[in-house]
Amino acid sequence: MFSYRHGFHAGNHADVLKHTVLVQLLEHLLQKDKAFWVIDTHAGGGVYDLLSGYATKSGEAQGGIHKLWAHRKDRDLPAALKDLIEQVEVCNTGDQLRWYPGSPQIEAQMLRPGDHLRLYELHPTESRALLTHFADVKRGVSIQIADGFAGLKGCLPPPPKRGLVHIDPPYELKEDYRRVLNTLKESLARFPTGTYAIWYPQVARREADLLPEQLKKLAPGKWLHVSLRVRATARDGLGLHGSGMFVVNPPWTLYDTLAEALPWLVENIGIDDHAAYVLEADIQ
Ligand code: SAM
Repeated sequence: MFSYRHGFHAGNHADVLKHTVLVQLLEHLLQKDKAFWVIDTHAGGGVYDLLSGYATKSGEAQGGIHKLWAHRKDRDLPAALKDLIEQVEVCNTGDQLRWYPGSPQIEAQMLRPGDHLRLYELHPTESRALLTHFADVKRGVSIQIADGFAGLKGCLPPPPKRGLVHIDPPYELKEDYRRVLNTLKESLARFPTGTYAIWYPQVARREADLLPEQLKKLAPGKWLHVSLRVRATARDGLGLHGSGMFVVNPPWTLYDTLAEALPWLVENIGIDDHAAYVLEADIQ
């Protein structure tokens, strides 16, 4: 179960979509003075070096954050993408893009004193990286070397009754699809007003095709779904041709903000004629 390493994928098209949404969700929570919790059930290593190791082997960031970075000074860059770039700039100096912030880093950068970030990670190397990285950096960050699906139950509802739950498993194991559904169902029973952001892959797998519709049934009248496909499904069925984020209890502004950013992403990150986005919501 420990073969997945996010370093291969850091900054790819899926991270760009995921982290664009994540930044908007955090921005919204930050609009009120009242403290909140962020629970990240699958944290990864926190921050990734794009100039060495896994990232240079895979080259995936070239098809994602590097394309956005090249346009970062464009005046007409959509606001949500500017917001993501701002978070990436915090980790870098000058024009060179070296460090890509994973979700824990983005969350830690954006949270205020008084807010709380709880990270779950199971992989020994990734959790060690997180512990080292956050050792002195910031109060209010707690790192659990534990199963994030199981750990989440014990955190809900968070004491301030405001919070964002980010669920981002590798989906290497088929059971991750089932666990995502069960976890959302149980979590909504405990904390119905929380915001939930669930990432999923677009791959040639039945469970992946079914997941968005199954998620919609768990949260009728309170979801937003966005996906970004960058290419046709490969003939051999391998690889990630896109990804999606399913948000429960989204901010009401999120739809319009993403509607502005998605055409830009299709145009600039899309690889072939199959590049397309979906943006839909049921909010009552
Ligand atoms: N959320 C990160 C980000 O956006 O930068 C990326 C996370 S990566 C897609 C998924 C991570 O979940 C991997 O580092 C993997 O080791 C970890 N993982 C896998 N199963 C887990 C589980 N049951 N509980 C906690 N972490 C798990």
